[in-house]
Amino acid sequence: MASNDNNRFQAIIAHAKEYGFVFPSSEIYDGLSAVYDYGPWGSELKKNIRDYWWKNMTQMHENIVGIDAAIFMHPTTWKASGHVDNFSDPMIDNKDSKKRYRVDHLVEAYAETLPKEKADEILSNLEKLLANEDFAGVKKLIDDNKIKCSVSGTANWTDVRQFNLMFSTQLGSVAGEADTIYLRPETAQGIFVNFLNVQKTARMKVPFGIAQVGKAFRNEIVARQFIFRMREFEQMEMQFFVRPGTQKEWYEYWREERMKWHLSFGTPKEKYQWHVHAKPAFYADNAVDIEYEFPFGFKEIEGIHSRTDYDLSQHQKFSGKKMQYFDNEINQNYVPYVIETSIGLDRMFLLVLSQAYAEEKWTKEDGTEDSRTVLRLPAKVAPIKLAILPLLKKDGLPEIGREIMKDCRDEFYCFYEEKDAIGKRYRRMDAIGTPFCITVDHQTKEDQTVTIRDRDSMKQERIPIAKLKEIVKAKIKGE
Ligand code: ATP
Repeated sequence: MASNDNNRFQAIIAHAKEYGFVFPSSEIYDGLSAVYDYGPWGSELKKNIRDYWWKNMTQMHENIVGIDAAIFMHPTTWKASGHVDNFSDPMIDNKDSKKRYRVDHLVEAYAETLPKEKADEILSNLEKLLANEDFAGVKKLIDDNKIKCSVSGTANWTDVRQFNLMFSTQLGSVAGEADTIYLRPETAQGIFVNFLNVQKTARMKVPFGIAQVGKAFRNEIVARQFIFRMREFEQMEMQFFVRPGTQKEWYEYWREERMKWHLSFGTPKEKYQWHVHAKPAFYADNAVDIEYEFPFGFKEIEGIHSRTDYDLSQHQKFSGKKMQYFDNEINQNYVPYVIETSIGLDRMFLLVLSQAYAEEKWTKEDGTEDSRTVLRLPAKVAPIKLAILPLLKKDGLPEIGREIMKDCRDEFYCFYEEKDAIGKRYRRMDAIGTPFCITVDHQTKEDQTVTIRDRDSMKQERIPIAKLKEIVKAKIKGE
């Protein structure tokens, strides 16, 4: 990461903490690695992103319904899905420092120090070796390049081994192999096991989708980059069930749809790129990642996977229950194929924050310098939509402000504040991304107008109070 990008990233992390977006978990005990808590404005922003995804998937698609499955599932679920045997990352330990690395991260970090051509060659070799599960080959690549541990500075490595990422715990009071259950590492399986329940009760016809948002847990070995890679995180997943043979066209459809959703945040196209998997996971016949240019480079934000009939067939096999659908248009029973869209809510949060964060400096008309830190959040996800700021704490101005607050708060999130100079209050609202501030002053008493200030342009204009709701609502809708 270039040092100015690193500085920017560190500034975003510090800003997120200072302004109540994200705190390290249990910070008074020095935190817990790769676990984070969302503060007052962070939880609001996260909820707005979640709601926006949920509405887009369910309310805006007649053929998609949602569910909310439990985190704990019958342990056989994870045998059937392949997670018990396959959900692992290749790791390597440095014998001197005892530090454990995910081999892809170790090699990627090394590649970042090389000229582009050489880096691309090493990364493409690594991708091939990993796709073939050639761990001896990966070890050789690390040895040949004399890649060193950043702690010990030595290249004294163990062999490459697989490490399962699932957290396990015990059900009930008696510990034993049979009672071991897992914290789900993805939300998707809660959808697959409920496929027939949902199809029948919501009377869905293939093609149709099931959406879900919820927590997932992975014992990530190298947890880095703030909320980009967490051990407890939230996923927003949708499984779309289609007739076998039509998966290619639906895969293309969902690729397009999901990119449209991303661009609807106003993020420039160049900040995104596709990463097509050379060799998709063993159950998939097509897979692509949407990558976003975070301050630390282009990284995965969402995966679109054509998962074939693998999951439903596996559950059919392990449960002995039919997972079939009768398609009366073609008079046939089949196990549907599945296209999955899977996005991390926390990663999307980091994307929105990284995209919105700006440090601005300018020269004022009187020649003096001014500056601010502003979150240029899309209004639809901003935690607070309207700040109501009486200019003075007297002369009946607070009462008018309170009246406006009472009138608007039911429609969108409002914030009322009368403390401190107006400039200071504006800066605080800029820092948490509030798109509009209004000030109530003496003229308000005479003509029922207020001054509305736009966060991005900082321009102010007088508008009738009667028009206020309309203006804010239009902005939230993106008009
Ligand atoms: P990565 O290669 O970054 O580990 P993945 O390919 O394992 O990710 P998927 O299993 O496809 O990820 O999960 C779907 C989405 O869930 C990812 O695109 C990402 O946004 C999110 N996600 C996965 N792991 C984490 C994590 N540890 N912390 C936060 N979000 C995550």
